[in-house]
Amino acid sequence: MTIQSIGVIGSGQMGTGIAQVAAVSGHDVVLQDIAENQLERALAGVRRSLDKLVAKERLTEAERDSALGRISCATDLAQLDACDLLIEAATENEALKLQIFEQLDSIAKPGAILATNTSSISITRIAASTERPESVVGMHFFNPVPIMKLVEVIRGLDTSDATYEATRSVAESMGKTVVVAQDAPGFIVNRILIPMLNEAVTALHEGVASAEDIDTAMKLGTNQPMGPLTLMDFIGLDTVLAIAEVLHTNLGDPRYRPCPLLRQYVAAGRLGRKSGRGFFDYRES
Ligand code: NAD
Repeated sequence: MTIQSIGVIGSGQMGTGIAQVAAVSGHDVVLQDIAENQLERALAGVRRSLDKLVAKERLTEAERDSALGRISCATDLAQLDACDLLIEAATENEALKLQIFEQLDSIAKPGAILATNTSSISITRIAASTERPESVVGMHFFNPVPIMKLVEVIRGLDTSDATYEATRSVAESMGKTVVVAQDAPGFIVNRILIPMLNEAVTALHEGVASAEDIDTAMKLGTNQPMGPLTLMDFIGLDTVLAIAEVLHTNLGDPRYRPCPLLRQYVAAGRLGRKSGRGFFDYRES
């Protein structure tokens, strides 16, 4: 199965990064979002990111220009009908993803692979919303996509060997290291990471220490590149909460209960860097 054209659904933080690495690795990309202004922001983001790579001499100007030339934008899902691989990276919401996959099933050409970048939702359940569960797979990138080396490939109950092999090889063609995970809530990384992040919010909620000190403690005490609260601001607090809910609901253990303070921040619209404010403030003063 040769994959040349890739459709990316959702042009937020993840979709933008996926479109960039797909284009740089020589694929034709159609980036789709329901929000037109988000597509404009996404393209500007890719351009900025590629300019930085040129400045660091990791990409030539010609390579930047041809990568940009390989990305086109769409607001209508139907424009993804010729793609060999579709990677869904829309908001982490199960009902939304089921609806998108139902639509993709009627739009995508026969033999196309339907992948989801979900952080936690069951691949098997998403696959069941299509008539071609053998072609559905989890392809979980990490943020920021151009920098983070990992892709978790998740096989649903009916994912075929051909779908798995092709997904693995396209991820490798993007320079990523692939690990395989079973279709269990949170897969590998988020099963372990999200409870740790939730515990950091709980420590803040209980007044164990200030946000700054929690982050400094975890950074210097466990040798992580950034503290857990800063990491949540990068991921997006709404996404962290959505994943925590999936772990809590599907694993059924109260130890996965999302911290009430996390819910409160999300309710207030403090979603992290993407909204300008989360645990820390990123607004220009
Ligand atoms: P985001 O909020 O930055 O972007 C989501 C985008 O989806 C928005 O641009 C929105 O307009 C678009 N969208 C919503 N409904 C849509 C629809 N019906 N059709 C097309 N586009 C639609 O979110 P994100 O951080 O990019 O996360 C996207 C997905 O990637 C989620 O499933 C998330 O769990 C997963 N993910 C996130 C991270 C992370 O660190 N943020 C890491 C790995 C995976």
